[in-house]
Amino acid sequence: MRPLALLGGTFDPIHNAHLRVAWEAAECLDAEVRLVPAQVPPHRDPPVASASQRVAAVRAALAGQHRLTLDTRELERAGPSWTIDTLIELRAEVGPQRPLVLLVGADAFAGLPGWHRWSELFAHAHIGVLTRPGHGGVLPTELRTRIASRRASDPASLRETPCGRVLPIMVTPLDISATRIRELLAAGHEPRYLVPDALLADPALLAAYRGG
Ligand code: ATP
Repeated sequence: MRPLALLGGTFDPIHNAHLRVAWEAAECLDAEVRLVPAQVPPHRDPPVASASQRVAAVRAALAGQHRLTLDTRELERAGPSWTIDTLIELRAEVGPQRPLVLLVGADAFAGLPGWHRWSELFAHAHIGVLTRPGHGGVLPTELRTRIASRRASDPASLRETPCGRVLPIMVTPLDISATRIRELLAAGHEPRYLVPDALLADPALLAAYRGG
């Protein structure tokens, strides 16, 4: 069955690496990939842009293609955006058989043991780990132990079972981060070609990052 994959994140703001790695994961897995903006990110500082500004930028960035879609469920839910809750909801929607794949960048994957009920994630989804420049180091011991028997190397193997495997996905290395985009905007620069053009066409969003 065709997997359903999701890439959660703050998207503060969405940038071209988010789009490109999501696209490559969609091709690699032959999956539908949903971008899932977080409402109250449990693991980090509050976003600079509002939820509605971030989601508007994601929606605009996704215009004109059909492989990547936007899923706003975390913005519609009260309280923190726990990934485990999102996976449980999605599992109930897609049924017990369809493979679900949680996509995370290598940086986010290394921090998985800090996530709410992290060890339960494998009971609901596979994890696809997207390579990211500067984030290929040693994993925490508890994570290494937990995934030892779950490692997969063939994307097709994620179709054999609905959840529980961990697959590295080698994507084009793009050293772009939302932190850097925010820094560029705050310094009065224009991050053209690092972010979707639609973002640069939103004066209110740009003003949020420029501190006005
Ligand atoms: P920030 O700089 O604010 O921490 P970010 O650029 O990491 O933001 P997020 O919205 O936190 O963006 O990322 C959402 C997901 O996309 C995470 O799993 C993250 O690891 C992944 N991701 C972001 N940028 C890249 C990239 N350049 N290459 C691979 N994965 C990425």
